Amino acid sequence: MTIAVLALQGAFIEHEKVLDQLGIPYFELRQASDLDRDFDALILPGGESTVQGKLLRELGMYDNLLEKIQNGMPVLATCAGMILLASELEGDSAQHFATIPMCVKRNAYGRQLGSFHTVSKVDGIGEVPMTFIRAPYVDQVSEGVEVLATVDDKIVGVKYHNQLAFAFHPELDDDLRIHQKFIELASA
Ligand code: GLN
Repeated sequence: MTIAVLALQGAFIEHEKVLDQLGIPYFELRQASDLDRDFDALILPGGESTVQGKLLRELGMYDNLLEKIQNGMPVLATCAGMILLASELEGDSAQHFATIPMCVKRNAYGRQLGSFHTVSKVDGIGEVPMTFIRAPYVDQVSEGVEVLATVDDKIVGVKYHNQLAFAFHPELDDDLRIHQKFIELASA
């Protein structure tokens, strides 16, 4: 099992540190030629979704990754990564991979609550620490999208086929269970 971590921008190193702790082999996707290597699963990190979406297209990586996700490659997406997977962004005509039928609101917590930490339940895992940084939340999901976590009635974690998307940053807390769950999904 080898994981590819999208490493164009944002908090990819934090995911790599978790994979190091779990002893899972990985490499970084920085340019189109990295996509020639074999990998079994993909991590889309947090950061700035508009910048990531632009770089994916400019660097010629978008079509190849989209095809892989559409063909069932397991994906773990956090924060900006979740935005990349959303089929719809509230109040915004932009779309990136759009492989999860859900509407996501960017920077959904406003300026006051831009960043916060809480502990809440993720289905199939239990209570986990959650760090939100200028986070989105999911406004609406279509049929087939499984809601894994909510905080204050807002959806912050979903599963759709082989794609797991979270509005918070599991890679920033000392809890490896979300990554472990993803590895289990990817190994199944
Ligand atoms: N606000 C960012 C965006 O819209 C996401 C923030 C994050 O990934 N921490 O892309």
